[in-house]
Amino acid sequence: MADKILFGTKEWAPHNFNFMNGCSNDCVYCYAKDMAIRFKRKTSDTWREELPVSLENKSFNKKNGAVMIPSSHDITPGNIKIALYVMEKLIKSGNELLLVTKPHLSCVKHIVDKFETSKGQIKFRFTIGSADSQILKLWEPGAPSFQERFSSLTYAFERGYSTSISCEPLLDNHFDLLYEKVVPFITGSIWVGKINMAVKRVRTNTGGAFPQAKVTALLETQTDEKIIDLFNRYKKNAMIEWKESIKKVVINHGLM
Ligand code: SF4
Repeated sequence: MADKILFGTKEWAPHNFNFMNGCSNDCVYCYAKDMAIRFKRKTSDTWREELPVSLENKSFNKKNGAVMIPSSHDITPGNIKIALYVMEKLIKSGNELLLVTKPHLSCVKHIVDKFETSKGQIKFRFTIGSADSQILKLWEPGAPSFQERFSSLTYAFERGYSTSISCEPLLDNHFDLLYEKVVPFITGSIWVGKINMAVKRVRTNTGGAFPQAKVTALLETQTDEKIIDLFNRYKKNAMIEWKESIKKVVINHGLM
């Protein structure tokens, strides 16, 4: 079964659409930043500068399946105008959009208010790996606080939009606290996943400046034993979806 698990963004949507290079959230574990540094498109310092990519050869046609926006950057106050333009074009073609974001409240308000009559074509997936803003600040220095993400969630929920959460990566061992806070405002699923390739990615993305002890401490909360304990506590909860990183652990231990 393990080889049938879908990886990365394909777990969520068959298509994605990106319109920026770089991301001001500047998460220290970011896969896209790691790749951009490796292929010399960005450096550890310039990743946070957001530059628009050309939309000239991009197709806005109707796709067969949902379109995830974005997958290699985020929707931020610096690019919200372009984001709204892209979304409008894709929605007009009849696409279903999965908006995956560490939500800035001003951006969510723009989207929610603008697409009121097309809300059936939009699903929000808000990334929240901890309910503690200090922890979010450490790992995702340019991204919004927990309170801002929570306000974004409730804003979208109260206006009748589809809402879900991505707790990937989990950034502490207090998932239960986060779950209790967000669950009343979720219409879909809560996805849970481990941090991937943390040691190497964090080192590359921060030029070695991030304290290794913090990475070690987080990894100690995601040992197989602790992941199985989390799985056992939530395995009967129909709202919880396990990302590939957790499914692998569970399958390896014969529990799935
Ligand atoms: S929000 Fe996503 S794309 Fe942006 S830095 Fe964080 S992980 Fe990378």
